[in-house]
Amino acid sequence: MPLTPEQDAEIADLRATPRPTLRAVSEGAEAHLYVPKPVLDHGFVRMIDYMGDDAAICQAARVSYGRGTKSVQNDEGLIRYLMRHWHSTPFEMCELKLHVKLPVFVARQWIRHRMANVNEYSARYSILDREFYIPRAEDLAAQSRQNNQGRGDVLGAEESARVLDWLREDAHRAYDHYEAMISDDGQQGVARELARMNLPANIYTQWYWKVDLHNLFHFLRLRADSHAQYEIRVYADAICEMVKDWVPAAYRAFEEYRLGGVTLSASGVECLRRMLAGEEVTQETSGMSGREWREFMEIVE
Ligand SMILES: Cc1cc2nc3c(=O)[nH]c(=O)nc-3n(C[C@H](O)[C@H](O)[C@H](O)COP(=O)(O)OP(=O)(O)OC[C@H]3O[C@@H](n4cnc5c(N)ncnc54)[C@H](O)[C@@H]3O)c2cc1C
Repeated sequence: MPLTPEQDAEIADLRATPRPTLRAVSEGAEAHLYVPKPVLDHGFVRMIDYMGDDAAICQAARVSYGRGTKSVQNDEGLIRYLMRHWHSTPFEMCELKLHVKLPVFVARQWIRHRMANVNEYSARYSILDREFYIPRAEDLAAQSRQNNQGRGDVLGAEESARVLDWLREDAHRAYDHYEAMISDDGQQGVARELARMNLPANIYTQWYWKVDLHNLFHFLRLRADSHAQYEIRVYADAICEMVKDWVPAAYRAFEEYRLGGVTLSASGVECLRRMLAGEEVTQETSGMSGREWREFMEIVE
């Protein structure tokens, strides 16, 4: 993901010119500002701006005239209470703006999260770079036999080498034709907005993405989860590292009640009560479907 020397200089310049402000400042977020965190082979995520901190969540919850904070312990307790009881609006008072460089097929999953603001690099206006996501051999796996929506065993060396060759060759051939199509050397040249249709879904795009903390936690709960596709999960993991430093108390509550917590159905609660009372409950006596029972047992075992 190397940035050009000009891009590096722009980032260094921004970081070298701090200004005094009356706004809430999170020291943890300041350390991340503007710096790209590498993700996948050419991607990155970097924090462009943020609004609010842990205290801002309490300030909004208490509808305060001042900072809204009491003691650190008090604030942490309030944040945990809000998270535990799905009292979400105070978390919406904090916002994060990211610059993300990601493969198009990852962007397609990401863009489904509608409660955010996006501005994407224009491939009508600009020429896309010759950069494609090529997985590491250890991430190249066969279709899972248990989960239709996932991958299973890692491919053997011979098959993996063959697939990687195809991925590279196809991507570069498509890009060669893209370049040839848009060239106006001795021909009219196809418009960039049309020629891009020939590019593969592993080409990289970029966008600015702004989201409030409540909806960011929703995104992270789904995409930092082990069931999410690896290629989006690594972006979610990188963002988790930033959020942990930006709003540490809110992130701790998120880890406790969302990432590490579970939701049980009414049948699940009933079964758990029966089990705790010493009854041997089976799928047949649980009232749950086979799949639901397996998921339930993964929680309680
Ligand atoms: C593991 C996994 C597998 C998936 N598989 C598929 C798949 O096979 N096919 C597929 O199409 N998608 C799939 N998705 C995408 C998924 O269905 C959601 O579109 C995506 O996770 C975004 O979630 P969201 O709508 O809650 O988020 P957001 O769009 O950010 O919305 C956040 C919340 O705002 C509210 N909201 C937003 N817009 C509306 C609206 N118009 N009306 C009412 N309420 C709204 C809802 O409460 C919503 O939960 C998958 C997602 C995951 C994590």
